Amino acid sequence: MVVRPEIRALSAYEVAKGEGLIKLDAMENPYELPEAVRSRLRHALSQVAINRYPDGGAYAAKAALARALRIPSPLALLLGNGSDELIHLIALALAKPGATMLAPDPSFVMYRLDALFAGMRFVPVPLKPDFRLDRDAMLTAIARERPALVFLAYPNNPTGNLFDTADVEAVIRASPGLVVIDEAYYAFADASFLPRAAEFANVLVLRTVSKVGMAGIRLGYAVAAPEWITELNKLRQPYNVNAFTQAAAETLLADTAWISQQAAAIREQRSRVSDALARLPGTSVYPTQTNFVLVRVPDANRVFEGLKARRILVKNVHGWHPLLANCLRITIGTPEENDALLSALASLVASS
Ligand code: PMP
Repeated sequence: MVVRPEIRALSAYEVAKGEGLIKLDAMENPYELPEAVRSRLRHALSQVAINRYPDGGAYAAKAALARALRIPSPLALLLGNGSDELIHLIALALAKPGATMLAPDPSFVMYRLDALFAGMRFVPVPLKPDFRLDRDAMLTAIARERPALVFLAYPNNPTGNLFDTADVEAVIRASPGLVVIDEAYYAFADASFLPRAAEFANVLVLRTVSKVGMAGIRLGYAVAAPEWITELNKLRQPYNVNAFTQAAAETLLADTAWISQQAAAIREQRSRVSDALARLPGTSVYPTQTNFVLVRVPDANRVFEGLKARRILVKNVHGWHPLLANCLRITIGTPEENDALLSALASLVASS
């Protein structure tokens, strides 16, 4: 067998089937597009020339993003087929023989996988038991390993918390290579490094439209100094963002009011769900700055199966890492979905 042994040892990333279920497992935005936006989108997509290759530079989509985000002007932008693709490209670009990728643990699982795909050594640094960044452990590991690449999910997945700003700055200053601040959940967080990205020559801010209502179009973006973007741009496939996605991005980002309104509704529901979960006996809820909440229950496997039997799908992260023992990661849904979740959980926890 000629396939690399480390690839043979893996199993493919499985996406749980969600048909007919209340889907609270994948950090999707539960709200549909407002009718006016949907009708603009219908028109834009009907105009796409599908006999032609897409605009390889995705100029109009990039301009729409830059406008919507008010990207600070010395910085440049790169688009990807989801931020997953950009994580992959960044790892490929920095994977010199013997190069190391470092990230806190537990964090987003794709960092470790993309290190493996690219042939980089992956060094996980445990978070503190309350999921804060362990600044001393990070700085010691950075001094020892001299990583080419550090990933910080800000806020972190699957824990939901936002690392302390001073800790992140310390990591950036100590790092000899690139530090990616992955802001997939920026819309639900109280802080961002995007406005400050130009301050640090070794910072790249990564974002996605997936959590703000557009997971289906697969669009992620990287913002960094032009020197970084020029290099990364060489690695991408010439047409990595398809014509429908480009047209959709242009239309959907022309007016961002609907995005902020939906994000505000999710934040509101997030407090309600967190408060209600905190009142359940034997349950602890962790602070979150994302569109999901991490909760520790008496028996995660039993509660996960119980919820599934009630047609509710959440993510069971028990077994992912010792710090996540008996934890479930629950995406915030619509008010009705959250009602169903809370009443199902109340009866499951009461019967334990
Ligand atoms: N970064 C983080 C921290 C995430 O949680 C996710 C999605 N689970 C991604 C990146 C990837 O997002 P996408 O590929 O949908 O843009």
